[in-house]
Formats: sequence, C-alpha cells, structure tokens
Amino acid sequence: MPGRIVIIGGGQAGVQLADTLRREGHEGEIALIAADPDWPYQRPPLSKAYLTGDFAAERLPLRPPAFYETARIDLRRGTAAVSIDRAAKTIALSKGDALAYDALVLATGAKVIIPPIPGAGLPGVFVLRTLADADAIKARMADASRVVVIGGGFIGLETAASARKMRQEVTVVEALDRLMKRAVSAPVSAFFHSLHTRHGVDIRYDARVSRIQPDGEDLSIVLSVGGSITADLVILGAGVTPETALAETAGLECADGVITDTYCRTSDAAIYAIGDCARWPDPRTGRMLRLESIQTAADQARTLAKTLTGTPTGYDAVPWFWSDQYEVKLQMAGLSEGHDRAVTRGDPDADGFSIFYFRDGRLIAADSINAPADHMAARKILGAQPPELTPEQAADPAFDLRAAF
Ligand SMILES: Cc1cc2nc3c(=O)[nH]c(=O)nc-3n(C[C@H](O)[C@H](O)[C@H](O)COP(=O)(O)OP(=O)(O)OC[C@H]3O[C@@H](n4cnc5c(N)ncnc54)[C@H](O)[C@@H]3O)c2cc1C
Repeated sequence: MPGRIVIIGGGQAGVQLADTLRREGHEGEIALIAADPDWPYQRPPLSKAYLTGDFAAERLPLRPPAFYETARIDLRRGTAAVSIDRAAKTIALSKGDALAYDALVLATGAKVIIPPIPGAGLPGVFVLRTLADADAIKARMADASRVVVIGGGFIGLETAASARKMRQEVTVVEALDRLMKRAVSAPVSAFFHSLHTRHGVDIRYDARVSRIQPDGEDLSIVLSVGGSITADLVILGAGVTPETALAETAGLECADGVITDTYCRTSDAAIYAIGDCARWPDPRTGRMLRLESIQTAADQARTLAKTLTGTPTGYDAVPWFWSDQYEVKLQMAGLSEGHDRAVTRGDPDADGFSIFYFRDGRLIAADSINAPADHMAARKILGAQPPELTPEQAADPAFDLRAAF
C-alpha cells in the first residue's frame, strides 16, 4: 500500500478521494494540491441557485474547512502542480517546492473551451467554471438587462434559466439544430425548447457567432447567418476539455482524457486519474468513456480509495446526471447514445414523464423529467446485468417499475 498519496486537483474527485482514503483506513500522508484559492467547493450550484442568489456562498464548500485538519489532509490551496518527475516520483509546485509521492492521483478536472470567436476576450464576455467566474457574472448581471448565452448545452441552459429568473432578456445561440443535442434525445430537446421559449428565452438554432464587438457601452454579437444581437453580457457555454497538460508533458497516455484501466491506473502504475480528466474502459458498454459528472467523479474516487487501501476494485457504476432548469429537474441514468428504441412513460404535457431507451431489446438508459421515482428505479434496473425491463413494461404507467429490480 502506498505511504504518501498526493492528489492533484481539489475538486469533487480529489476531495472525495482524500475523505474516503481516511474512511477506508489509510494512515499515511495525504496531500491535496488545489490550484483554486477558495476552499474546495461544489460547482453545480454555480449555474443554478448560487447565480440567482438562492444558495448562500457558505453552503458551497465540499467539506467544512476544519475537515482537512481533522482528517490530516495537507490541503495546499492556491498551489498548482507544474510538472511530474516520474522517475524520481516527485511533483514540482508553483510555489517552487517539490513533493514526493508513492501514489499520485490526477484529479485535474476540465477546463472551459473558449471558441475561436474574435472578441471572445472582451470585457463583458464570461465563461462559467469556477466560483470566481460565477461571482464575476453575478456582479455584471446586477447592472445588465440583456444576456446572450452562446451554446445550448447544460451549463448554457441552466445559466439562461437563472438569468431569466433574474429578469434578464435572454437569447441562446446554438450552432446545432436542437438543445443539448450531444446528451439527450430529440423529444427531451423538444421539451426543453418549449420550456425555455415559454419562459421567454429567444433561441436561435443553426446559428454561429462570427464575432463579438463593442457597440458603445454594449456588446454586439454578430451571427454568421446574418444579423446581430445586442447584449450587456455574453456567456460562452461551448463545453469543456479535459485538463491533461500535466499528464501529457509527463508522457502518460492521453486521448481526450488521461487513459486509465478499470482500476483508474494510468500508463504509469504509480499514477491514477479520476473524474472529468480521465478516460476509462466501461465494462457495460465496452467503450472508453469520459464523463463530466459529479457521480463519476465521486464514485471513481470512492472506488480508487478501496484500491489504494489494499482492496483492488474495478470501476463499474451506472452513470447518472442531473440538470435543474426553472422548476424542472432532468435526471439521466445510463447512456442513451446508440439506442434503437425509445418509449415514453407518462405524459410529456403533464407534470412528469420519462423516456426509456433500449438497444437490442435491452434497457440502456432513461431520461426523467420531474419523475424522480422513475429515475431511481431506472438506476436500480440498469444496475442489474442484464436489466430486466421490457419496452412494453416501461411504457405502461400501470406497471410498477420496482417489480423489475
Ligand atoms: C457551472 C457548473 C454546473 C455543473 N452542474 C452539474 C450538475 O448539475 N450535475 C453534475 O453531475 N455535474 C455538474 N457539473 C459538472 C461537475 O461539476 C464536474 O463533473 C465535477 O466537478 C468534476 O469533478 P473533478 O474533480 O473531476 O473536476 P473539477 O471539479 O473541475 O476539479 C478539478 C480541480 O483541479 C484543479 N487543478 C487542475 N489542474 C491543476 C494543477 N495542475 N494543480 C493543482 N490543481 C489543479 C482545478 O483548479 C479544479 O479545481 C457542473 C459543472 C459546472 C462548471
């Protein structure tokens, strides 16, 4: 078992790992290197209730500050790891010192993609990944009335919903022909289109921004399809890319993520990767996966803690994700990509419904909209191999899903 464990990244995965290592009985040193100066915090509220002022800053930390001392975790806030010396098993830190490790864990997360749009660096144009980003957006919104969100994915749409709640005029500019296209099926996109338009959001599809330019005190967002939109504030919601710079420089195998085996181990047996930065072999789909979700980050951390404390455990969990927009909670279990049949349970025009996705007659995923019981059932059903639910049962609201697990 490794004596000194060094974790790079004080986000969801890194903090969970440090915590679970202690719970699993690791007695050796744990260092947590966190580039962010704030106490490690949760990101989901940043685009939701924190932005609207309905979630107090004091609730953001993942653990109370005292936790790190009590659990003997050497948390280095505001310190970045700048390089890894694999031969010497040390990392160099931004403050000039070096740290030795027996096991090193990369939990470096993801960084925002800045689309190559002229004017993307102008004052008034923001991204949303960190607490500092959210605070900067909040401050600007206090004096704004018109917001343009570039990108109709989860973060863009949650931010759009929050901005509407703050009585902003909101336009979403989406390059594709429907919302959240990479993650959800067409009926779910249609539901969210109608939800946002009902709340007064102007959505422009198949539209790319060709440039952003100052227009007096305002910003002018020029569209490639012609025309422009005037705004006080622009939010770039073009997605993220895994933070793999350290791993790549150290010569670890990377391909849109740090490549790991099922034990979260990279191409160097003393180095592991978890969370948004990692790409691992998913035993359920047989594919290499990289997911950006709290569940993956936290569950990989818990699994790796077992391995590092002497019980080698492969990562094999049903992925799940959620998004809050207005009064609607979308909950997704499994991965719907590649489905050949989708059935609807419940009425999309009523309060709650779910879409169950099948491939070759086998359940692979379910998206639930204000239907938490369906979501919980889907997670349990997907946890069984093979899942025991037919499309006919899924579509029949009289069928009790609990009978399938
Ligand atoms: C606004 C927003 C809303 C979200 N909403 C949801 C949601 O509703 N549901 C959901 O499931 N997911 C949501 N997510 C995604 C979720 O937050 C991420 O999947 C999760 O935080 C991943 O955890 P992580 O630890 O892998 O990465 P991160 O949380 O990104 O943490 C990585 C940390 O590593 C640090 N770091 C990077 N490089 C270095 C270095 N060289 N040295 C030191 N530190 C370094 C970074 O500063 C960062 O703090 C949201 C994300 C955002 C930004």
